[in-house]
Amino acid sequence: MTDTKYSKSITAISVFAAVVLVIGCLLSVFTPTPEDRENEPVQNTPVFQFTSVIDTSTPESYDSLMTNMLKLRNEYPHSLKLFTAGYSESGKEILMFTMGNGEKKALVIGGIHAREHITTKYLLRVIEDYCFQNEKGTGIYGNFNIKELLCEYTLYIIPCVNPDGLEIISGRMNANKNVRITDIKEYKANLNGVDINRNFPLAWEYIDNGVNSPYTHFFKGYESGSESETKTLMTLCEENSFEFALSIHIKGNCIFWGDTFNTNFNGLYKAFAEDIAFSSGLSMTEPTLKPTDYGGGFENWFRYTYSRPGVCIELSHYTNIISPCDNKNYTDFDSFVNYSQSKYALAAAMASNNK
Ligand SMILES: [Zn+2]
Repeated sequence: MTDTKYSKSITAISVFAAVVLVIGCLLSVFTPTPEDRENEPVQNTPVFQFTSVIDTSTPESYDSLMTNMLKLRNEYPHSLKLFTAGYSESGKEILMFTMGNGEKKALVIGGIHAREHITTKYLLRVIEDYCFQNEKGTGIYGNFNIKELLCEYTLYIIPCVNPDGLEIISGRMNANKNVRITDIKEYKANLNGVDINRNFPLAWEYIDNGVNSPYTHFFKGYESGSESETKTLMTLCEENSFEFALSIHIKGNCIFWGDTFNTNFNGLYKAFAEDIAFSSGLSMTEPTLKPTDYGGGFENWFRYTYSRPGVCIELSHYTNIISPCDNKNYTDFDSFVNYSQSKYALAAAMASNNK
């Protein structure tokens, strides 16, 4: 045997041995033992099961709001950061989440009117759904990709702008003595009997609704921008370049998107609102005509000041006359706010503004 032949034989044997070894390794890797099979994930079963920490069957209180926001922040630490945006007239913290990690910013508020505190619960529920999709789910939510949207956006969300009003309507706190209250269930104002959504400096001087002193609702205040809740939102908007603003209210099942004070951008504003309406099952209104109806409004002020879309989203049907402070509404939360559709409003707003 020559050296050449010997080396060829050695090479052939080595190659054969290597092939056998590789096949053996592959078989050992890909042939599960009985114990391995027990640990195999079952196909099509999500790794994470959604378990809500938000109880939608009872109204939120200021204390439970604080607790629930902390719970949500701890459950979804990569999506949420918790802040104090400002303070109410009685000195309560106005709590705010930022949700998402994108460069673009937008503002979403609820609970500006005390009697509409179901909007606070709505936002907590929406935040929880979106964060679950962002961190533990597929990210696909209806026609939207929440993971992508929250990479592009950071939403600044204040579930309850008016914590004093929330406590007053629930009987845990009294309004100032000079506030005339006709029906506590209709209470919309803050501690001072000022309707925060009539207090912004937009056509404020033209509001003529006959309410000239602290009252259950509709009092615009003695000066525009006088209330600490109003100032909190104004400062937040000044310090951040928000692409859009959403203000969640009840009732009407509709979207207010324009007013006759600010007609320059009506085409843009209408298209933005139409996208939200289409996805969330709400109807469109006509632009609001009378200063008494739009004056001092948060979203009206936002549109005019920043030339960017701001809408008022009215959840729940207008003919639904049950007061939202009645527990009855909360036992049927999903249908009251049409949650299966209205939950897409925030996603639709982000997607629309990306066009
Ligand atoms: Zn309202």
